[in-house]
Amino acid sequence: MIDLATLSVPGPTETELTKPFWAAAAEGRLLIQRCEDCGRAVFYPREICPHCWSSRLVWADASGRGRLKSFSTIHKPGHPGWQPAAPYTVGLVELEEGPTMLSFILTGPDAPRVGQALVMQPTDIGGRVLPAFKIDNDNQKGDQS
Ligand SMILES: [Zn+2]
Repeated sequence: MIDLATLSVPGPTETELTKPFWAAAAEGRLLIQRCEDCGRAVFYPREICPHCWSSRLVWADASGRGRLKSFSTIHKPGHPGWQPAAPYTVGLVELEEGPTMLSFILTGPDAPRVGQALVMQPTDIGGRVLPAFKIDNDNQKGDQS
């Protein structure tokens, strides 16, 4: 794969609400919200808890561990800036804390498999450090082949 840092791709759109998430991402951390009323983790960032409608959401570091829920290999990117990286993989990551997030998946020589353990890997994409995920080979559940 090419050096993702050299891509010329549009970055994420920051809002007042999402600013803490992107600031932490730039430091290599994965920050998600937690509800102080029902205790559940929340992602994507919101003003109100989707589980109990509380507005008492606080930011907390996530473990960075998760499982691959689904994925897609992109051969024809929606933005031409991604073309030099194609084919590449994006996937739905079920975070250990519960929520699911869409992310860039750093794959090895083997095709990814649904259910594989993943770990967050801060990755420079287009000059900006973003929370990508890689296969966590140390934490697969008996599916080594
Ligand atoms: Zn709640």
